[in-house]
Amino acid sequence: MKTKTILVTGGAGYIGSHMVRVLREAGFKPVIFDNLSTGHREFIPRGVPFVCGDLRDPKDIRKAFIKHKIDAVIHFAALIVVPESVIEPFKYYENNVLGSLNLFSEMERAGIRNVVFSSSACVYGQPLRNPIMENEPLKVANPYGATKVMVEQILGDLAFAGKMKYVALRYFNVAGAHPSGEIGIKMDRPTHLIPNVMQAASGKVKEMKVFGHNYPTPDGTGVRDYIHVLDLCEAHLLALKLLFKRRECAEMINLGNGKGFSVLQVIRAAQKVTGRKIPFKLCPKRPGDCPSVVASFQKAKKVLGWAPKRGLDEILSSAWGWEQKISSRT
Ligand code: UDP
Repeated sequence: MKTKTILVTGGAGYIGSHMVRVLREAGFKPVIFDNLSTGHREFIPRGVPFVCGDLRDPKDIRKAFIKHKIDAVIHFAALIVVPESVIEPFKYYENNVLGSLNLFSEMERAGIRNVVFSSSACVYGQPLRNPIMENEPLKVANPYGATKVMVEQILGDLAFAGKMKYVALRYFNVAGAHPSGEIGIKMDRPTHLIPNVMQAASGKVKEMKVFGHNYPTPDGTGVRDYIHVLDLCEAHLLALKLLFKRRECAEMINLGNGKGFSVLQVIRAAQKVTGRKIPFKLCPKRPGDCPSVVASFQKAKKVLGWAPKRGLDEILSSAWGWEQKISSRT
């Protein structure tokens, strides 16, 4: 069978750069499309073609499709910081919605019908029950979540019109890093829990903040479903294979571990894995945060034949390996 070429938008970012490595190992040929606004040039492996382009400019996408014969697109490129989306909604709609529309329109022009889309558990807002199934009503709580719902809706309409086949993967809390130590989350001021726990373990910050301690959860702190970035990428690979197999495809699928851990449980597990004390202080809850968000991954199991392989300890130990690597460079 001919090697399939996959355009990875956001391929120089945290999840995209893991995906590029997983694709190569599975015998696909990745091509990276990234504007390097939040991605990192050093995350691009040698030998992988790179198009420095912006989804807001259709000409950049067209050039990529002229230069490379693409069989499918995995679309990660997006802005992802929820509080920022509340302050700067236009920026989010322009990058995430207009950028996706440009991408889909150029895909149609180039005759490319397959796309795996990065969606988010954010589309469920505050869920009515856990674990969350895909047929839970969508309730967005911020502009970031709204952009994900809108793009899913656009994909649904394009698929209905026979112009596109897609799998939208709704990520729960993605964390961890590649065992090579080459890539991981790289942000000066991370907002997510696990990178903040790692910074506290390495002594980069004196103490971390635990946001909210009066939630209706077993220990009062927020409960989330953490999924290893490599488990997540392996699910994308299966989604890609499903697209190549099916004549029509319009699926929305949760990707999570199916288990919830509270903030305090994560801190305790990280103390064990790192052998470091993690100082923290209890703080008021962050506006807009939910008490508990846990995935059902039954649909992923049924439709993709996927199940997570890596648990919280492996997530934390790989994140710790990466944290030590970036700390040693600064
Ligand atoms: N959280 C925390 N301290 C931090 C960052 C996050 O206590 O420095 C909590 C947050 O309130 C939530 C959980 O950790 O209960 C996961 O937050 P994160 O930002 O990682 O992901 P979210 O689920 O909000 O997208």
